[in-house]
Amino acid sequence: MSGTEETVIIMACPTCRRSVPWREESRYRPFCSERCKLIDLGAWADESHRIAGDSAYDDLSSEG
Ligand SMILES: [Zn+2]
Repeated sequence: MSGTEETVIIMACPTCRRSVPWREESRYRPFCSERCKLIDLGAWADESHRIAGDSAYDDLSSEG
């Protein structure tokens, strides 16, 4: 009788619901990948950099 069954906890990725084994290999646990981790953190939603303030036109007329 060989009872060397290792119990591996399977987690579900919060982003894509994939099965993620709770092991040291899974760096991005409970996420399946770094991508899903970034998505959850909202890093991908911050893609647009809004620059507030319209540049006013300054007429520099130099009359000699
Ligand atoms: Zn995922």
